[in-house]
Amino acid sequence: MGSSFLDVLAFGAHPDDVEIGMGGTIAKLTAAGKRVGIYDLTDADLSSNGNVELRRKEAQNAAEILGVSVRGSLGLPDRGLFLQPDYITKIVEIIRIYKPEIVFVPYHEDRHPDHGNCAHLVEEAVFSAGVKKFTTAGCQEPHRVKRVYFYMINGFHQPDFTVDISLFMDSKLSALRAYKSQFVKTNSSFETPLVNGYIENVEARERMFGQLVNVSYAEGFKTKVPLLLEQDLLGEI
Ligand SMILES: [Zn+2]
Repeated sequence: MGSSFLDVLAFGAHPDDVEIGMGGTIAKLTAAGKRVGIYDLTDADLSSNGNVELRRKEAQNAAEILGVSVRGSLGLPDRGLFLQPDYITKIVEIIRIYKPEIVFVPYHEDRHPDHGNCAHLVEEAVFSAGVKKFTTAGCQEPHRVKRVYFYMINGFHQPDFTVDISLFMDSKLSALRAYKSQFVKTNSSFETPLVNGYIENVEARERMFGQLVNVSYAEGFKTKVPLLLEQDLLGEI
């Protein structure tokens, strides 16, 4: 079966967070042969539409569309993602098992507090995962994540860098449409921003990000540390 190591591990507070923020980038990475995983901290058990079982199924379908190697959930409580040592330890175990080089988390400036809280928990865990004497019940081998990047869910912010997803926008939209319970309005839907043109808004945002860098569609990201451009990325300079 080969190793369980991942090149990239993206965390979300809820199933669909990662697809909204960086589904195109994930499709691009997996198409390039990278091993990518998605971990949801909760099963979105409080979401207004759908239920846990249905959302797990939708998340699995979306993961298959994007070609991810691992899709998991920690089953932490929705609206309960507060800085607790046991939550951090659980995330450390996941990081130590899959040993990703790059971790993605939601950008904290977002109307849903769970998204920022997810980022805070994972940032704590990223640090602790590399601490040799930080003990966990599972995998004990320390692992240092090289970079942590932030993707945007509800927010629209000036990105620190963008990824061209022009060839992968269709995959992103397909992955989002896999979440029928969230994004498709029916007679029984509870009124939320998600069932009122949300996917169209995400598409428009990625078009705007693309416009910033002169491509059709892009996803925008934030980073706390400056990017170091490699020689082949310097273009005409
Ligand atoms: Zn969410």
